[in-house]
Amino acid sequence: LPNMQTIIVTGGAGFIGSNFVRLVLESTDFQVVVLDKLTYAGNLGSLPLSDYPERLHFIRGCIGDAGLVADLLEKYTPTRVYNFAAESHVDRSIDAPDEFIKTNVLKTGVLLKQCLNFWESLEPEAKSAFRFLHVSTDEVYGSLGPTGLFTEQTQYQPNSPYSASKAASDHLVRAYHHTYGLPTIISNCSNNYGPYQFPEKLIPVIVLNAVEGKPLPIYGDGMNVRDWLFVTDHCKALQLLGEKGQPGEVYNIGGNAEKANIDVVKTICGVVDELCEGLAHSPCESLIEFVKDRPGHDRRYAIDASKISNELGWTPSVTFEEGIRQTVEWYLANSTWIEEVTSGEGRERIGLRTKQD
Ligand code: NAD
Repeated sequence: LPNMQTIIVTGGAGFIGSNFVRLVLESTDFQVVVLDKLTYAGNLGSLPLSDYPERLHFIRGCIGDAGLVADLLEKYTPTRVYNFAAESHVDRSIDAPDEFIKTNVLKTGVLLKQCLNFWESLEPEAKSAFRFLHVSTDEVYGSLGPTGLFTEQTQYQPNSPYSASKAASDHLVRAYHHTYGLPTIISNCSNNYGPYQFPEKLIPVIVLNAVEGKPLPIYGDGMNVRDWLFVTDHCKALQLLGEKGQPGEVYNIGGNAEKANIDVVKTICGVVDELCEGLAHSPCESLIEFVKDRPGHDRRYAIDASKISNELGWTPSVTFEEGIRQTVEWYLANSTWIEEVTSGEGRERIGLRTKQD
């Protein structure tokens, strides 16, 4: 397929990555190469492989495999590399931080180095067009009091092993730009939700437990506040950053939807009650159970996304209520996917503890 733009998406079999791959395939004629290790969080069933046999390629492998990454870059000569690959779950990072340091810091370093080698080998025109986009989190900024917002200037104060490892990776990406000139863009976004999210995080856990009549676990007093971003809105922002973002810059991406966890759960309960008429355990709110708080649980995150809005014209288009409805509908209609991702190892791990955000 000559002259076709190619992008490489690491971690493209995960939640946000697979939504991003689908958006790119649907909205462009680009070729997409997914590099994913398929950890418990990655699932081939999240990728539309049979719909795009010519434009979507899947390679099972690790971003820390320097030889493999170098070969892929040479073979496909991408114009963009989007890095979604990471260990992404805060509770797991509390139980077992080592894997987070290995993947999010050391292996991201390997990926960056190979991308730099590749970029340096390009002709001037291709060199100036290339972008490395690093997908990161607002959790690097630490916790907010009752007021205030995270801006791109907010000092990094990560509080969990997860956010500390993401903060370290952000610093590495920044350093590759400042030291070597690699055209990088970092985005820090709030909590995503939507289709294809592994059922260990707050929203899918609550949806599935509400439908099945299981307890709805909420950490602490339920008043921890997060900003919620519908995954497709996030993916559109990332696409725009690939086209128009400035190399070396950082962009915050948020959903303008700050909610206390208890209100998130109540909203989901309302939608499940409505969509699943006749549930014996309805109203689902009666299933709510407060459980022991997560150690070091950040109280509040909130994003000021005015930079990407003012400079590039992006704003979220899906309201929280619409997004939750679409998400509940998706989980109700996709029991095969749920069965697939929660069988075997995945299921065992979910059973270990309640998982939120
Ligand atoms: P996810 O856990 O669903 O997916 C991560 C994917 O990366 C999986 O498919 C996994 O197999 C793959 N992976 C892990 N280690 C790998 C390695 N060494 N080599 C190749 N592939 C590997 O995560 P997600 O929720 O889709 O998050 C994607 C990115 O966005 C992460 O970097 C995360 O830190 C960031 N982020 C997520 C959220 C959120 O709310 N989910 C919010 C802000 C930022």
